[in-house]
Amino acid sequence: MKSDRVESLKRLEKICHARGMPLTSQRSMVLEVLLQRDDHPTADQVLEAVRSRSPRISRRTVYRVLDTLAELGLIRRVHHPGARARFDAKMHRHHHLVCTRCNRIVDLESRRFDDIALPKGKSHGFKVYDYSVQLVGICPDCQKKQGRGKDSPSGLFHSDKENLEKNSAQDS
Ligand SMILES: [Zn+2]
Ligand SMILES: [Zn+2]
Repeated sequence: MKSDRVESLKRLEKICHARGMPLTSQRSMVLEVLLQRDDHPTADQVLEAVRSRSPRISRRTVYRVLDTLAELGLIRRVHHPGARARFDAKMHRHHHLVCTRCNRIVDLESRRFDDIALPKGKSHGFKVYDYSVQLVGICPDCQKKQGRGKDSPSGLFHSDKENLEKNSAQDS
């Protein structure tokens, strides 16, 4: 984890140098904040965290830096339609468990998902260059809340990570 951090910061330095861009303190600060978290924060959550170190930084700056870092391939946006963009500094292939109640996103490492073969050639006109698997469901906290509430949990909510993994793997 720690070496990941050092490596990412070094990469930022290298890329900035190669492109003749200044390595601003804002850029390294935003990247560092993202590297320290695994909850895939929104831009505003990143802003909040950055402001705890540098209170006068503007929202525009943080948003712009996030865009730049994503363009440079140092972070990525996690796509979850319907919810606000979330950011991830983990660039190796990994997958996500998404809670549709609270929008929590949890990293999932799965060799089986890593090994899915990309379609050969173009698919629907798309040149596919990457993928990640997104499992959608209800997180443990929301299941607990629901259990205490009036509606009874349906079968779907009982599926644990293991089962979801198995089921999805069989589909492919
Ligand atoms: Zn939840
Ligand atoms: Zn992630």
